[in-house]
Amino acid sequence: MIKLVPIFKARRTSLDDCIRDSASEMLANLLLSRRLNKRVSSLVKDQPSNFMNMIRVSFIRGKLEVLQGWSEKLLGACKVYRDMIAAINGKLGMPHPSQYQSGQHYLMFWLGEPIPGLRPLSMIFSLRSDEAYSIFRQVMFALAMAEETLKLNINGLHLMVGETHWDYIVYEVKGKRYRVRTCGKLAIISDISKSRLEQVIVRDGEATVRVFFKKIDRFPQLFQQDPEDTESTQHSIYQETRQRNGNNWSKFSDTNLVWIRYLYDSILRKKIRMDQDRNAMSSGALLFQFREEISNHLNNCSNSNCKGIQCLITSSGFQQLWRDHCL
Ligand SMILES: [Zn+2]
Repeated sequence: MIKLVPIFKARRTSLDDCIRDSASEMLANLLLSRRLNKRVSSLVKDQPSNFMNMIRVSFIRGKLEVLQGWSEKLLGACKVYRDMIAAINGKLGMPHPSQYQSGQHYLMFWLGEPIPGLRPLSMIFSLRSDEAYSIFRQVMFALAMAEETLKLNINGLHLMVGETHWDYIVYEVKGKRYRVRTCGKLAIISDISKSRLEQVIVRDGEATVRVFFKKIDRFPQLFQQDPEDTESTQHSIYQETRQRNGNNWSKFSDTNLVWIRYLYDSILRKKIRMDQDRNAMSSGALLFQFREEISNHLNNCSNSNCKGIQCLITSSGFQQLWRDHCL
């Protein structure tokens, strides 16, 4: 699978800065993919991960033209994606890559095997409540493991959903294993470009911590309501994140909880189809209970050094809710 991201030079920044920024994002993406996916697949051999598997990243320049083979497929895929975005937003938004000039720079991500039926969650309009419950839990556990492994703060949530033949995915948080039923759905956290994460590098017996982060406060538009999308509440989530981390984006904080609550409130709740079957109804009720548990944790965590979802998962209220799923 290939993901192609055009790089546009922002005003008042040089192309070199844009390239340097992209390179640090690539590195963070690769690090997350390698470290975390390795850990996930070591729990149960070859089970799928909720983070894209990134094999290689290339930095390319030029004009995409229909020559033969893959470039034709790539342009076709760009058209399908652009049409889908247009159908949702009611406008075209982005130009087709065939219109870019020969000086255009791109990041090309070489990803793992294609995931069947993969598309953005924003393009899925209805979910059974047990599917929504599964997507929610997959994202929560994947983020908890990323917190533990790389001290990741996500700072924005972009999800895709595909299909999987795996019935369960196993996660491990603080030495304890948990099992999540997939209901045939696989949640993929697709863009971590605004994330904060860190890696410990040991050289000559000496350990140093390398922190990757973006100064999110340099993008004031993220904290303002998008006039063209008045339904979106992401700006208020960024405001809350800033309040919780004291506008220090290099610091590891508990803000993944805010994003996971946002996932439920703004995305999943609106899509859930409450089927009248008993299993589906209890999934809907449990999902709501989880949401309450998160809210309580955000307001009342007794751990003054709270580090987010991993802290929630080990709390007694959560363990009570979760007792049937521990391994
Ligand atoms: Zn806590």
